[in-house]
Amino acid sequence: MSLVGEATKIAEELEYSPEQVRRGVKEFLRLTDDGLQNDGRDMTMIPTYVTSVPNGTEKGVYLAVDLGGTNFRVCSVVLNGDTTFTLTQSKVAIPKALMVSDSHSLFSFLAKQVADFVGIHHSDHFSEDPEHHLHLGFTFSFPVDQRAINKGYLIRWTKGFDIPDAIGKDVCALLQKEIDALGLPVKVAALVNDTVGTLMARSYTSPGKTGTLLGAIFGTGTNGAYVEKLDRITKMTSASANDVGEYDTSTGEMVVNTEWGSFDNALNVLPDSLYDRMLDQNSVNPGIQMFEKRVSGMFLGEILRNAILSMKEDTRLFATSTIAEDSVLNTPWSIDTSLLSYIEADLTEDYSVTKEQLQKDLGISASTISNDEAQAVKILVHAIGKRSARLSAVPIAAIVIATGKLSPPAETPTDGLNLKDLSFMEQGIEILRRAIGGRSPAAPPDDAPPPNIQDEEPIDIGVDGSVVEFYPGFEKYVREALRDVPELGEKGEKRIRMGVAKDGSGVGAALIALVAKMQY
Ligand code: ADP
Repeated sequence: MSLVGEATKIAEELEYSPEQVRRGVKEFLRLTDDGLQNDGRDMTMIPTYVTSVPNGTEKGVYLAVDLGGTNFRVCSVVLNGDTTFTLTQSKVAIPKALMVSDSHSLFSFLAKQVADFVGIHHSDHFSEDPEHHLHLGFTFSFPVDQRAINKGYLIRWTKGFDIPDAIGKDVCALLQKEIDALGLPVKVAALVNDTVGTLMARSYTSPGKTGTLLGAIFGTGTNGAYVEKLDRITKMTSASANDVGEYDTSTGEMVVNTEWGSFDNALNVLPDSLYDRMLDQNSVNPGIQMFEKRVSGMFLGEILRNAILSMKEDTRLFATSTIAEDSVLNTPWSIDTSLLSYIEADLTEDYSVTKEQLQKDLGISASTISNDEAQAVKILVHAIGKRSARLSAVPIAAIVIATGKLSPPAETPTDGLNLKDLSFMEQGIEILRRAIGGRSPAAPPDDAPPPNIQDEEPIDIGVDGSVVEFYPGFEKYVREALRDVPELGEKGEKRIRMGVAKDGSGVGAALIALVAKMQY
C-alpha cells in the first residue's frame, strides 16, 4: 500500500464517529451525576464555593496572585464596571531552592513580592482601616481540598515542589500569615482554580448579560468548570453531607470544577488506538487522565510521534532520510503540539510548510522528504487534531444538556414576581377563563407555538489554552461534533457562543475575590 494509503488507514482508526460522540456524552452525563453525589471515581466534581458569576458591571480594584509551576505572578485589576478592565502585573521566577524548602521560606518570599508590588502600585491603600484593604484572589495550581471560598488544604505538591510541612495546611492562611507579618493592607479573599478563573473572566467580558455557563481549558491540560444548581450537588447539600464549609445559598448555584481530564479513565467509551496505548504505557501515570491524554497539548505531539514511529516501522516512511538515535522523533515527549498546528495550516501544493516544519522541529532534512511522506504526516496530524476537537465537544454538549440550557424555562418570572406568584396568577386566569366560558383574551390560540424567550438566547462558553486558540479549525470540528448530538442538533449548536477568555488567573481571580468580598 502507498504511504498515503497507510496514513489514511491510520486516520480512519482515529476517526471519532457521531455514534461515539453520542455514547461519550451519555457516559459523561452518568459520571457527572455520580461526581455530584459522591466524589466520583473518575471526575471529582469539586464544589468551588463560588456562588455567582459576574455580569460585566462589577467595579473596584483587586489583587491576584498566581503560583503555577515556574513563575509567581502578582497583578492588580481595575474593573471598570463596563465589561472592561485594566491589568498591571509583575512576574518573578521562583528560586529552585524555595521549591524544596519549608512553608515559611516559600510563603514569606511570595508575600515579599506582594509587598513590592503594592508598594509600587497601590501605596494609597496603606491604611489602618480594613475597609481600604485590597482583596486578593490566589490562583494555586496544586491539588487542594477546598472547604470555603478562601480556605483549601494542600493535598500534595506536584511540578517539582516538595515542602512537606505545608501538606494538610490551608494555603490561604499560610499566605495571609506572611502578608500580615509584613503589615500589608491585603486580605487573601479567595482560593482560585484556573478553570473557574476562565469562567469568571469570560462572564465579565462577554457581550450580553446572560452569564457564562462554562469555562474550559484546552492547553497543556484540559479541564472545565461550570455553573451548577446547588440542589444537584447533593454531596454538599444532602443531610448526610459532612466536612462542608460555609457558603452563600442565596443564588441557588455554585461553580463546580469538573476535573474532566480524568473522564472515563475506565475506557468505557473513549477511543483507544495503538498510539494512545503507547503513550499511556510510557506516561508517569498510566490509566489516569485518559481524556486529557487524547485531547490536550501535552499529549497530541506524543500521539503523533507514536503514529509516525509505527508507520516508519511498517512502511518506507522516511526511509531515505537520516534520523539520529537521539533525534526528537526518537525521544519520548519531545514533539511540541504547535508542530501539529503548523502542519494543519499548510495549504501549499508541494507541502513545503510541512517539510520545513519537519526539518525545524524533528531535524529531518526537508530536501529528503518526498511529497508523499509529507502528505502522509499531514493526514496523521489532521486525524489527531480533529479527534481532539471532536472529543472536546463531549463535555461541552453534556454540560449544556445537564444544566437544562436547551429547554425553555417552565415559567418565566418577571420583575417583582416569583414563581409562586406566577402559578397563583395562572390559577386566577384559569378560574376567570372558566367563568367567562372560554379562552381569556390574553391566551394564545391553540396552534400558536409556545412562547419561548430563552429559545434564541446564546449559551456562553469561555475557552482558553493554546490548542483551542491556535489549532486551525479546532472550534469548527468541535461544532461539527456538537451537531452530532441529537439533543443539540444544528439549532442547539448555533446557540452556543464560544470565546477566548484570556487571563483567568488575573482578571478571573480578581473577580472571585470580589464575589468572596460580597459574601463576608
Ligand atoms: P498552559 O495550559 O500551560 O497555561 P498554553 O495554553 O499555552 O499554556 O498551553 C501549552 C500547550 O499548548 C503545550 O502543550 C504546547 O505544546 C501547546 N501549544 C503551544 N503552541 C501551540 C499551537 N500553536 N498550537 C497547538 N498547541 C500549542
